[in-house]
Amino acid sequence: MSHPDIVVIGGGIIGAAVARSLALAGLTVEIIDSGTEQGIATQASAGMLAPLAETDTEDPVLGISVRGRDIYTELVPQLEEETGVDIGLWCEGIMKVAFSEADEDATRSLIAWQRQQGLNSEWLVPGELRERCPGISDEVRGALLAPEDGALDPLSLLEALLVSAANLGTRITRGVRAERLQIEEGHVTGVETDRGAHQAGAVVLAAGAWSGRLGGLPRPLSVEPVRGQMLAFDWPADEPAAIVYTGKGYALKRGAEMVVGSTMEHTGYDASVTPDGIEEVTRTAAQLYPAVAEATLRRSWAGLRPATPDGRPIVGKDPDVGGLWYATGHGRNGILLAAITGEIIANLLTEDSLEFDLGPLDPGRFWQS
Ligand SMILES: Cc1cc2nc3c(=O)[nH]c(=O)nc-3n(C[C@H](O)[C@H](O)[C@H](O)COP(=O)(O)OP(=O)(O)OC[C@H]3O[C@@H](n4cnc5c(N)ncnc54)[C@H](O)[C@@H]3O)c2cc1C
Repeated sequence: MSHPDIVVIGGGIIGAAVARSLALAGLTVEIIDSGTEQGIATQASAGMLAPLAETDTEDPVLGISVRGRDIYTELVPQLEEETGVDIGLWCEGIMKVAFSEADEDATRSLIAWQRQQGLNSEWLVPGELRERCPGISDEVRGALLAPEDGALDPLSLLEALLVSAANLGTRITRGVRAERLQIEEGHVTGVETDRGAHQAGAVVLAAGAWSGRLGGLPRPLSVEPVRGQMLAFDWPADEPAAIVYTGKGYALKRGAEMVVGSTMEHTGYDASVTPDGIEEVTRTAAQLYPAVAEATLRRSWAGLRPATPDGRPIVGKDPDVGGLWYATGHGRNGILLAAITGEIIANLLTEDSLEFDLGPLDPGRFWQS
């Protein structure tokens, strides 16, 4: 390939999904990924697909999130067949438990609202919850069950997306840092890297929490790192697989482990695990499954979520500079939203029709006076 139609900056889950969708649409694509940052979000993620457990009644992105989840029931088997990578899709529901009367009231109202929107969720009384989760705390008063929510293995999804993108002709350039956008007469012409210039007809910025650090952006980009610390314990013997949420965190089974998360900390680009973080996440785990208090901590890690001021991703084109596209700021839901983000960017770039109102994701929303 001489120079590609599009350079995607960032080879995390968002860059990979965007590149694959663009290549599927017939465009030539290059992914540039530096790969040396500490705290890359995709590597740290729990991989839950939780549009209903993560939402509230004010969420303008709910329709996109639900569609984002549902895409995977078709996409994962296709990718697995194409690439041979086992993505570990688990679609047996997520439970959001209530510990107090106030929690229960709010959760039951949320269920009523979700059902009015035509979404599938229900209230589990303690006996029903315990059938699914015998080891859950006695303090729990019941739970929202979102039976279609679930999880997948984010690193396997990333691998499969990159293999598929490469099969479609995408060039994946690793160990190269994008440093500065090249813009001529109001249009992107490529990107300067630490290894020289890469020309392209358009650039998609998908560099996660580092997106705002790219030089030459037309204006400051509102994406900041929010650290999440994660722990893994042994999954309790004989406890059935489950994904359980509280207001403060969650626990899920992956392999033989109980993966538990997560803190939400504004600590800049520091991706370290701290004693306070370990204590907080362990407390969440033991609140849900008291047996964890005796369990051995197997692993700990942290990642930096690319967060925006309103908690919504930034997906779409720059209002002024031609050929500059954003696919960033996915915060807590970048795995859930990766595939749909790829579809949205590919549809926008090829001017295909779109069924969604993309206003809530519009990059220009932070810059309108
Ligand atoms: C602890 C934790 C738990 C999470 N759990 C979930 C969950 O259960 N479900 C869910 O949906 N989401 C979850 N998320 C959120 C999700 O992981 C992120 O939203 C998503 O991974 C963001 O993907 P990304 O590709 O934008 O960023 P990243 O995965 O951070 O990737 C950014 C990439 O850009 C590259 N890069 C950076 N700067 C440059 C540069 N200048 N030049 C070239 N390349 C560059 C990096 O090397 C990196 O590969 C979680 C996040 C964390 C931290």
